[in-house]
Amino acid sequence: MPDSLASFAPKLILWQRANGRHGLPWQGTRDPYRVWLSEIMLQQTQVATVLGYYDRFLQHFPGVGALAAAAPDEVMALWSGLGYYSRARNLHRCAQVVATQYGGVFPSSAAALQTLPGIGASTAAAIAAFCHGERVSIVDGNVRRVLSRLLAFEGDLSLSVHQRALWDMAQRLLPASPSHEDMVAYTQGLMDLGAGVCARTRPRCEVCPAQALCQAQRSGTVDRYPLKSRKLLRRHESWWLQVLRRAMPGGEQGVWLERRPASGIWAGLHCAPVFASEAQAFALPLKNDWKTQPLPVVVHHLTHRELRLHPLLVDLPPGHALPQDAEGQWVALDALDRVGMPAPLRSLLNRLPE
Ligand code: SF4
Repeated sequence: MPDSLASFAPKLILWQRANGRHGLPWQGTRDPYRVWLSEIMLQQTQVATVLGYYDRFLQHFPGVGALAAAAPDEVMALWSGLGYYSRARNLHRCAQVVATQYGGVFPSSAAALQTLPGIGASTAAAIAAFCHGERVSIVDGNVRRVLSRLLAFEGDLSLSVHQRALWDMAQRLLPASPSHEDMVAYTQGLMDLGAGVCARTRPRCEVCPAQALCQAQRSGTVDRYPLKSRKLLRRHESWWLQVLRRAMPGGEQGVWLERRPASGIWAGLHCAPVFASEAQAFALPLKNDWKTQPLPVVVHHLTHRELRLHPLLVDLPPGHALPQDAEGQWVALDALDRVGMPAPLRSLLNRLPE
């Protein structure tokens, strides 16, 4: 690594203090619970989206003990809409481990934090740097992009051997003997650079504090990095959703929801019954002569899959009970907020036709 890159950390710290993001609700705290919560929520999710969720979570669960003691459904309902639900399940499990095995206090080092459920190396580094000033580098997806351009890194980042090599480089770029405040500014600076300057498309090199050092920029090869040979292949899948609706004992409308299996898509969330084919979805309603109404297809993107959801609205006669072997529950439409469910289903159920 060229000697000139020793100036990267001081430049980034100065830039962050003058031009970076300040005043976000999870900044300015050294409380590991709050930092951890924000870091988990910010994975694959924009700051603007996280803001409301973060505040609501803290109101319900002001500390790790409260979160650990919550019912899983309560956690899922509050997470609903943020997506990537394994994060919420791990969040809950992690809180329980911290509460029961660590006396409610998060371990302080990045190495120990990484052993907790749902905390990867980069999240552990962020918590340790922000809360304890540990000299350790984050390397999430955004930071990988910044560093691979800065260093014109030729390794294929779809391979873990090259990810580790880039991590080593990230450690070597850290400030030489930083104060706690320096580590906070440096870590936040890496995040701010990745989110707002060194964007995936059209990076704003003209305002980048690393412009004079950036090897990709100097050689006019910014678009080449980060190198990834293996492309993400998204499979297509169709699901038929049977939205069973009927009047509840109090007169309000309700829908039938079943819990998804413990693994796979939307694991553990509540969902309308899912069928692999149109014929299966129609079988029970046709047999019982229930009123059916196909609704517009909803396309939902997951990391590795494109889900095409075909909702079939089925109106049951009032008071009609499903077969006894059906496992699920009737939920009033105005009580959906209390149930953890995938965002596309919630939005579908909130605008069902009369
Ligand atoms: Fe990214 Fe441009 Fe800065 Fe290089 S100079 S790190 S490509 S924004």
